[in-house]
Amino acid sequence: MKIPHLLTTLALTLAPALAGPGHGATPTGPNGGRLLTTMKPAVEFLVLPDRRVRLTFVDGAVVSPGDRTATVTTGDRRAPVRLTFQPEGESLVSENPLPDGRVFPVILQIQSLPGEKPALAKFQLDLSMCGGCKKPEYVCSCEHTH
Ligand SMILES: [Zn+2]
Repeated sequence: MKIPHLLTTLALTLAPALAGPGHGATPTGPNGGRLLTTMKPAVEFLVLPDRRVRLTFVDGAVVSPGDRTATVTTGDRRAPVRLTFQPEGESLVSENPLPDGRVFPVILQIQSLPGEKPALAKFQLDLSMCGGCKKPEYVCSCEHTH
């Protein structure tokens, strides 16, 4: 009987393609936060235990924020919360914490020089704990579907 054998071969051939990029593991930065690779340099977005946000710039290795300034807009669309940042070591740390809640849209703006158009990153911040890897969903490192 040739057909079952053929199906097994086909399944094995397709498996690597199906396991390719998708939800998969979230890229993470040097401190275990979410690495936003669409920005140049990449920005690590880390939520601290006190719900303040720490941003670290990564260009191969950690780079100093220099003159960069950042703003995060989040929370309820009708009453958005704006976080402002101060340099702290090699990172920028927010002066105020994230609002209450577990899932909210985040708009991150990074300005390299005063007067320059800021770079934007938008994503859904999900602070719920993942049952698979025991990390918050925004830095989930396991392959699973929602
Ligand atoms: Zn996970």
